[in-house]
Amino acid sequence: MALIVKKFGGSSVATTEKILAVAERILNEKKPDDKIVVVVSAMGDSTDNLINLAEGIDREPYKANYLREMDMLLTTGEQVSIALLAMAFKKFGQPAISLTGSMIGMRTNSVHTKGRILGIKPQRVHEELNKGQIVVVAGFQGADKFGDPVTLGRGGSDTSAVALAGALHADECEIFTDVDGVYSADPRIVKNARKMKEITYFEMLEMARLGAGVMQPRSVEMGQYFNIPIHVRSTFTNDTGTIIREDYTVEDKDFEIRGVAHDQKVAKIAVLGVSNTPGIAHTIFSALAKANIDVDMIVQSIRNIDKNITDMVFTIALEDLAEAKKVVDRVAERVNASSVLVEEDVAKVSIVGAGMLGSPGIAARMFGALARADINIDIISTSEISVSCLIKASQLTEAVNSIHDEFFSD
Ligand code: ADP
Ligand code: ASP
Ligand code: MG
Repeated sequence: MALIVKKFGGSSVATTEKILAVAERILNEKKPDDKIVVVVSAMGDSTDNLINLAEGIDREPYKANYLREMDMLLTTGEQVSIALLAMAFKKFGQPAISLTGSMIGMRTNSVHTKGRILGIKPQRVHEELNKGQIVVVAGFQGADKFGDPVTLGRGGSDTSAVALAGALHADECEIFTDVDGVYSADPRIVKNARKMKEITYFEMLEMARLGAGVMQPRSVEMGQYFNIPIHVRSTFTNDTGTIIREDYTVEDKDFEIRGVAHDQKVAKIAVLGVSNTPGIAHTIFSALAKANIDVDMIVQSIRNIDKNITDMVFTIALEDLAEAKKVVDRVAERVNASSVLVEEDVAKVSIVGAGMLGSPGIAARMFGALARADINIDIISTSEISVSCLIKASQLTEAVNSIHDEFFSD
């Protein structure tokens, strides 16, 4: 007997035909004693469509005082797919029950649209499994201490699935999606990207943070926390996918870099002409932190050494732009900035790999690949196992391919 958590993403359940196919596949693979929990996302683009609906009310629906209502709206997407999938199981004679995030005891903090899981008490899930039911759970959602719905950020169903697998002490956690594993770059952008047999939590987390949308970063953290191997595989084939785990077991570990990630959902904000004195950075970034806005790349550059004037430039998630602009405009007055500029036509391209530790020259090769493609670098940032460059969004595909060729052509 095995307890298995299987997660199916939006494209896997985009139509009722696909939902029926998912139910059929699960039943074909299920051994008689297996206990199965299925976590599902909203159908197809329905989360985007719900956001579009909200934009009909206000063009900027992610303003702070709308966020609770956004969660009330967005959680309906997953409620549709769990109900339909549970019905599909019943149609095939398999007892099943759909449960929302709050019904499975998924407790979150109250940071609407960016909630974090505080704990899971999946008593109800155990009870229903023990009755022989397949339990179909709404991904992406939990409830806070008031019982209000809270979503876990875009792509959050991955995190629901891995966290639930951890809380249930599941034997396996499978993430079914529209690609058959994790690749050395987004296979939609790089035609000769390579499929990985395995990748460590450490490297996958960095890839995910830097935009590899195949897994939500927090889901990888959860996998590592619970030490659950995560199998990323295709909904549409039976092939083995990629295992995300603590260490390499079958593949050679001597990679120069493990992959190229990109992120188009970024924006750049420049606070120009502030005085180069203590406390300015603190004022700007603590105001953003208070509004729950994550800041990514930060550059402070001296513009006028005589007048001791500096510019503060940083990037944030595009989704946060409206709220960040409001916060920064307010702070800009306080710090006497000469102006605030916003740029949306930017994207971030990154290389990732634990192999770059102690291997000088890797960053220079990345910059060389960009130079050969005649791509200008706006901002550079590094971590222990990654190097990222901010470039023009229109040059992103070329940049990713050029860098991938540099490191992955034999
Ligand atoms: P789901 O709806 O199943 O959660 P997502 O669209 O969130 O699916 O994630 C799958 C997508 O992730 C793929 O279609 C692919 O375009 C993208 N992706 C980005 N980077 C990678 C990568 N390195 N390897 C595989 N897929 C990637
Ligand atoms: N439906 C949510 C989204 O589109 C969650 C998910 O798919 O993981 O972001
Ligand atoms: Mg996803």
